[in-house]
Amino acid sequence: MQAATDACPGLLDLHPARDGAVARIRLPGGYVTGRQWAAVAALASEFGDGNVDVTARGNVQLRGLRPGAGASLASRAAQAGLLPSGAHDRARNITASPLSGLGGRPPLRRLVRALDAAIVADPALAALPGRFVFAVDDGTGGAAIARSDVGLRRTGRQAELLIAGCRAGILLPVRAAVPAAIAAARAAVRLGVGTNVTRIRDLPGGGRAVATAAGGAPLAAVPPDVGRLLLGALAAGEPGVLVAGARLGRLTAAQLRLTGSLLHPAEVLRLAAAGRIVIPLAVTAADALARLAGSGLLTSDEDTMSGVSSCSGMACGRSVADVRALARPMPGHPRIHWAGCARGCGAPADADLIVATGPGSFLIGGKPAGITIAGMS
Ligand code: SF4
Repeated sequence: MQAATDACPGLLDLHPARDGAVARIRLPGGYVTGRQWAAVAALASEFGDGNVDVTARGNVQLRGLRPGAGASLASRAAQAGLLPSGAHDRARNITASPLSGLGGRPPLRRLVRALDAAIVADPALAALPGRFVFAVDDGTGGAAIARSDVGLRRTGRQAELLIAGCRAGILLPVRAAVPAAIAAARAAVRLGVGTNVTRIRDLPGGGRAVATAAGGAPLAAVPPDVGRLLLGALAAGEPGVLVAGARLGRLTAAQLRLTGSLLHPAEVLRLAAAGRIVIPLAVTAADALARLAGSGLLTSDEDTMSGVSSCSGMACGRSVADVRALARPMPGHPRIHWAGCARGCGAPADADLIVATGPGSFLIGGKPAGITIAGMS
């Protein structure tokens, strides 16, 4: 069953856009093996325009899909292990700390895999809408747990279960974390998520009934997770990891191949908010930076576009301005997200929003942005 309120694309539910249909491939945790990355690149080139957009939750979107591509695309994605359950196509939304297991941080890959497998194994959770999200945090942040529906924050051998981005006083052994998260999601479905609401916080009572069903206490909000990964090689002691950035969240076919070629074979790429790509390296950081030079990927926060992001702009039927062409840094707003309409899709948690109200007019924080776009009134 899919929710009437669900507006997120999947591999089986393509969405129309001005540049062709859009498909979203879920990559739980934002973690993707080299083989999966190569498969994503092949699907983008074969069925779409060759580019891949990294979403705010570490998934990917293929754009410019040809009419009638849906069935073949889904079949090929399933063969590549990117669609383990058609019924759960849009339900496998899991964000995770992008640096987990690197530089001495606690590992999460096994926990994320177990959670994904448990979601797929549960027929009731096929009703979860595409906007519903699980978050798994290793204690160092980066999973946007405050924005999640069901969160797990690992602390040593224990994990805390969060509901609607809030603490509920539920501390568990790690081995009990996945069953508890699944039970909370089942309670959310039972209480109405997937029918007329897509998020736990939008249920009557803001999710208190889900917390109670999970054995929790009254909800207490946690601070938003607003840290953005710094670009470049990770600091001292972690020379084998590089953070690159996709300009405006979009990767070309050549950039997909290049990032995949740098990945250590025992590791996974990690996709994160604002188009960040964490690459555990098969080569030295110096070699990787040399190979990325001239690729168009961001590798330094000194780059003026490092704080700039954008929605899909004119490719979306709602956009009233070509925000991808116009996107640029804005004085006084070190992190700025350009949106073609007030929905503000894909805005990173740490970014100010600049919203188009016409081809050359914009609001920031609801007030006129006070900018003039050359050639437009
Ligand atoms: S913010 Fe508006 S224009 Fe941009 S992708 Fe979302 S709906 Fe479309």
